[in-house]
Amino acid sequence: MEQSEQNVAAQTETETQTQTQTRLPKPAALEETLPVSATPTGAEIFKTQNVSIYYSSFRAVTDVSLDIYENEITAFIGPSGCGKTTVLRTLNRMNDLVPGARVEGDVKYRGESLYAKGVSPIAVRRRIGMVFQKPNPFPKSIYDNVAYGPRINGEHNKKKLDEIVEKSLRGAALWDEVKDRLKNSGLGLSGGQAQRLCIARTLAVEPDVVLMDEPCSALDPIATGAIEDLMREIKSQYTIVIVTHNMQQATRVSDRTAFYSVLRDEKSDTRTGVLVEYGPTTQIFEDPHDSRTQAYVTGRMG
Ligand code: ADP
Ligand code: MG
Repeated sequence: MEQSEQNVAAQTETETQTQTQTRLPKPAALEETLPVSATPTGAEIFKTQNVSIYYSSFRAVTDVSLDIYENEITAFIGPSGCGKTTVLRTLNRMNDLVPGARVEGDVKYRGESLYAKGVSPIAVRRRIGMVFQKPNPFPKSIYDNVAYGPRINGEHNKKKLDEIVEKSLRGAALWDEVKDRLKNSGLGLSGGQAQRLCIARTLAVEPDVVLMDEPCSALDPIATGAIEDLMREIKSQYTIVIVTHNMQQATRVSDRTAFYSVLRDEKSDTRTGVLVEYGPTTQIFEDPHDSRTQAYVTGRMG
């Protein structure tokens, strides 16, 4: 898994060399004519409708419909194998890289169908970045890890790159810890620092959305706290979707929570992931409407 995620990260960035046309709308935050402050908040970033996701003939997830909003942190929770990662990867077409994976239904990003003909998955992944469970720095210097994406996108001006690297590392709350050793290998960082480096690498290409798949599961509580602080700090500029198995984390950082579960069909002996309940995080944890959500958030299941 580790190796394949490393490959996916590298492949995603390498693919950006192909300057494929895209019909995706430009996110408001990147429009030069529209100041960020004029960006209406509460806009729908993603709208999935009746999305089912298959791995070959296995239907891993069935009928997921949910809206994800700008400048919010949306948490995906639920027992292992219920499809959280599968749905998350559908939001930036990372599943395209999994042989046999197929998406049915509609996934809209800022009103445009993410899976429509003419939409470049490479452009999608540049706009919608991903941070993996296990920190996966490239075997390069700290500086080169962060400068990697911008360079591939054609930025070779040393001064510009210096600025991007500093801004991204500051954005990922790592600058002060590494500013005197930017030439050192990214592989020499602690787990928490390495994960913040991966976040900086993601921020360096100015994404619109950051997807995080259990980004703290390999980290100690202090490093976890640092990542959570960071998420709260950057959410005014980005939209974040985070998969977490840690329910306290969901309550601490997220605005909305989606609870997924596994639906078993005894007769056909099949199982599939479903979205059970989605709402404001306080409602999901304090006043769940579905008995399955209640059982899960009170620790009686999963
Ligand atoms: P979660 O992230 O909630 O633990 P996943 O999205 O990883 O769940 O998995 C959902 C289901 O899809 C599981 O039954 C899992 O075994 C299956 N699955 C995940 N990835 C693949 C894959 N690459 N090929 C086949 N099945 C997969
Ligand atoms: Mg997962």
